[in-house]
Amino acid sequence: MSAAALRAEVRAQLDEWRAAGIFTPRSDSWLVGYDEDFSRRLGARGWIGLTWSPEYGGHGRGFVDRFVLTEELLRAGAPVAAHWIADRQIGPAIARLGTGALRRELLPAIAAGEARFCLGMSEPDAGSDLASVRTRARRVDGGWLLAGQKVWSSNAHRATHAYVLARTSDGERRHDGLSEFVLDVTAPGVTVRRIPDLRGPGHFCEIFLDDAFVPDAWVLGGIGAGWAQVTEQLAFERGGPERVLSTYPLLRRLLDTAAGPVGRVGELVARLVALRRLAWQVAVRMDAGEAPVAAAATLKLLGNRFEVDVIEAARETLPSDEDLRAALDDAVLAAPGFSLRGGTTEVLSVVVGREAMREAR
Ligand SMILES: Cc1cc2nc3c(=O)[nH]c(=O)nc-3n(C[C@H](O)[C@H](O)[C@H](O)COP(=O)(O)OP(=O)(O)OC[C@H]3O[C@@H](n4cnc5c(N)ncnc54)[C@H](O)[C@@H]3O)c2cc1C
Repeated sequence: MSAAALRAEVRAQLDEWRAAGIFTPRSDSWLVGYDEDFSRRLGARGWIGLTWSPEYGGHGRGFVDRFVLTEELLRAGAPVAAHWIADRQIGPAIARLGTGALRRELLPAIAAGEARFCLGMSEPDAGSDLASVRTRARRVDGGWLLAGQKVWSSNAHRATHAYVLARTSDGERRHDGLSEFVLDVTAPGVTVRRIPDLRGPGHFCEIFLDDAFVPDAWVLGGIGAGWAQVTEQLAFERGGPERVLSTYPLLRRLLDTAAGPVGRVGELVARLVALRRLAWQVAVRMDAGEAPVAAAATLKLLGNRFEVDVIEAARETLPSDEDLRAALDDAVLAAPGFSLRGGTTEVLSVVVGREAMREAR
């Protein structure tokens, strides 16, 4: 099936589900639209794990196809948060780096919408500077014991598994000695505590690790190779259409309003066209086996500004009614996080600048 046919099929299905009341469109649906049943529905349609092998419950298609699928899901404001992290970055990382046992056990479960991941990267003293993580993994018979604390792990309280970046040794350089683990969050020694945000009890959580056991087969890639691996993974985390389309349901309203601010809409659409082209190029490079770190950082840097400007245009120009207020509430409360999550604007600027200066030499 071509990408265009896939797009038409996904769009028609989402229209049908929306009309049947199966979901209500909302902004930031890839982070706050958490609906396990909806993820299972997508899994049953074959729309999770599109890029990994059929041997592991995937569909053997490319990242451009996944781009098309995810673009449609985000445009519709569909509730995709339950499987998003696993589908976007941990599934592909397991497919590339995981042991056979890990692939067999988790990839089909992710593709079915049954295994749900959260990310355990940030710590109280390690956010932008991930190399300073202090969570430790200690070698024991048959595996590793994790001890430490993670913070800001979105939706950890309803995840089945966590990705954890931890220190396995002290190398000469801070970036050495980091390793990646897949953790069963129901294992003894794991405690998840929610952190309220502006909305009340939202998606943020802390994860406390008190000698939580991870078997050898659940180590992701090489021991000590965590820094290189996580850097590549960040391309998957930053380079998708969700860095541009979090507020698309509001742009849709601007497009649909007959007496809308034509010039302002035109300016937003012109930017969207360019951003979309960039996101498409990132997907093409992923299909070629690359991890386009700087291009993904560029997309996130510019995409987040665009998402905020969509909110401002909707807030300032659309006729206010209850429906719009509810839609704006979602978006306005999410907006402060756009430029922080997945790497702050300042840090992304450094990534892009460093790469540009390296290329110029
Ligand atoms: C909505 C949301 C969801 C999140 N979900 C997750 C999740 O699921 N899992 C997870 O692990 N983490 C998650 N995070 C955490 C996020 O990754 C961190 O907030 C982010 O990496 C920044 O780290 P920090 O908050 O510790 O800020 P800091 O790193 O302390 O930064 C503070 C300020 O200093 C600036 N700064 C830092 N270093 C530099 C530098 N070298 N040059 C210039 N300026 C710099 C930053 O730009 C920022 O303005 C989430 C955050 C948000 C907002």
